[in-house]
Amino acid sequence: MKIAMVSEHANPLAVVGGVDAGGQNVHVDALSTALVARGHEVTVFTRRDSTSAPTRVLAPGGYEVHHVPAGPPADVPKDELWQHMPAFASRMAEVWQRERYDLAHAHFWMSGSATRAAARRVGLPWAMTFHALGSVKRRHQAGRDTSPPGRIDVERGLCATADVVIATCRDEVRELMALGMPRSKARIIPCGVDVRRFPATEHSVPGRRLLAVGRLVERKGLADAVTALAQIPDATLTVAGGPSADALELDPEVQRVRALARGLGCEDRLDFLGAVGRDRLPEVMSAADIVVVAPWYEPFGIVPLEAMSSGRPVVGTAVGGLLDTVVPGRTGELVAPRDPDALAAVLRQLLDDPRRIRRYGRAGAQRARSLYTWDHVARATEDALAPLLSRVPQEVTP
Ligand code: UDP
Repeated sequence: MKIAMVSEHANPLAVVGGVDAGGQNVHVDALSTALVARGHEVTVFTRRDSTSAPTRVLAPGGYEVHHVPAGPPADVPKDELWQHMPAFASRMAEVWQRERYDLAHAHFWMSGSATRAAARRVGLPWAMTFHALGSVKRRHQAGRDTSPPGRIDVERGLCATADVVIATCRDEVRELMALGMPRSKARIIPCGVDVRRFPATEHSVPGRRLLAVGRLVERKGLADAVTALAQIPDATLTVAGGPSADALELDPEVQRVRALARGLGCEDRLDFLGAVGRDRLPEVMSAADIVVVAPWYEPFGIVPLEAMSSGRPVVGTAVGGLLDTVVPGRTGELVAPRDPDALAAVLRQLLDDPRRIRRYGRAGAQRARSLYTWDHVARATEDALAPLLSRVPQEVTP
């Protein structure tokens, strides 16, 4: 298949860890790479966000990245990109008119909207992966949600018009059905993990080192992890993510969480590394004993898979994709979100039981390898996309 992968803000070549660069960037890169390895041709269409970016680049994974000019060629927060989507769609449609693709696969709601507009102009079938939903964000962030107004209605419309919706977990299907999507339209295909990049290792004697990895945004629950840390004697918490190490002091979430730790008397046991590159992350994972993933909500969560692949238990919250990936009592433990006392209790018990840490780690490593490699994800995606090729072309609207 010749696939147009559309990811308006999440450039697969970007450095991840910043506020708007995380799992979606990793997902689009790894899925495209795995589809190319299976013999498909993939071009990723993403917004041009710097003057130095060439229009077309061959990514190390063997797919092409097409930087689409739409809005200023500079960093723009994703919640301010909506106004540029008509231009993004028009530019993309021009390319699709010149170079024939078999189908498009949109990532995130704004990409979905642009993809639908461009696909209608050339009569292309298209698939939708949301990665995150406005309805869920609104529920948890209410007045602090900076998404453009109308996002939820757009998502409802995308559910109705996409040829197939690829959800990443069972919880997402439930949310999509609440938006009116018929169950028959969704396929569940999880995100994956690069198991070669994150090899399973084991400590002969596990210690009391906790690790959190992710973008430094409030909903990732770092404050809850720190509140739990204060209740766990002798444990340390290392945090990977956020801006580069030299810019950490200025980061508002770092300041907020450090102040909390100071107040709770555990600041000396908390260490921020800043953004950690993909190459260094496996080493940081294997230096930990337990990976803590405590979001208020999580559309999927690739970090738990990376921890499992590395042979580390996940102690997390029972939300979103973690409900599918983490098996409580076998590869980790799950507690209710926003409950630091419960988090502290399970962490204390697990830290006091090194044999269980090792057992969970081994089971997680096995589970990652048997269910969540990117090759598994690419095969399932191929199965979901292939039927679209035989669709009667949609009516072309100029
Ligand atoms: N990540 C990274 N370096 C960092 C912080 C995060 O490479 O300093 C990666 C992390 O390993 C994972 C991704 O960013 O692959 C985050 O994905 P996840 O689905 O867990 O969360 P999201 O960012 O999509 O909310």
